[in-house]
Amino acid sequence: MEPTLFSKIIDREIPADIVYEDDEVLAFNDIDPKAPTHILIIPKKPIATLNDIEEGDLALIGRLQYTAAKLAKELGFAEEGYRVVMNCNEAGGQSVYHIHMHLLGGRRMQWPPG
Ligand code: IMP
Repeated sequence: MEPTLFSKIIDREIPADIVYEDDEVLAFNDIDPKAPTHILIIPKKPIATLNDIEEGDLALIGRLQYTAAKLAKELGFAEEGYRVVMNCNEAGGQSVYHIHMHLLGGRRMQWPPG
């Protein structure tokens, strides 16, 4: 897999506003926020799309979800509610081919999404 923008953020080749990091996961503020809080949560392992997740990655994907909830609690909007989104491929709105979970909070979300 070609290095993506997000691999370069993991490798500190491109700056980012990092809000959480552990051995497997990195989270940073989205450069073009769509909510008062808009954080991207990514695995350090490069996986291009949701379609490329393998059985061995399941704990890692759970860690992304767990990190989203942990950040929502720390940032104080877990109780009022928030949204997590993963876009897959072109029609799903994916623009960076390194899987990422969007954590959006701090405003009321609309349904259905566009
Ligand atoms: P996608 O459209 O679901 O693939 O989401 C990619 C996200 O990456 C978008 O919300 C972009 O605003 C965000 N993004 C693009 N470049 C950067 C960057 O350099 N830093 C942080 N976020 C970025």
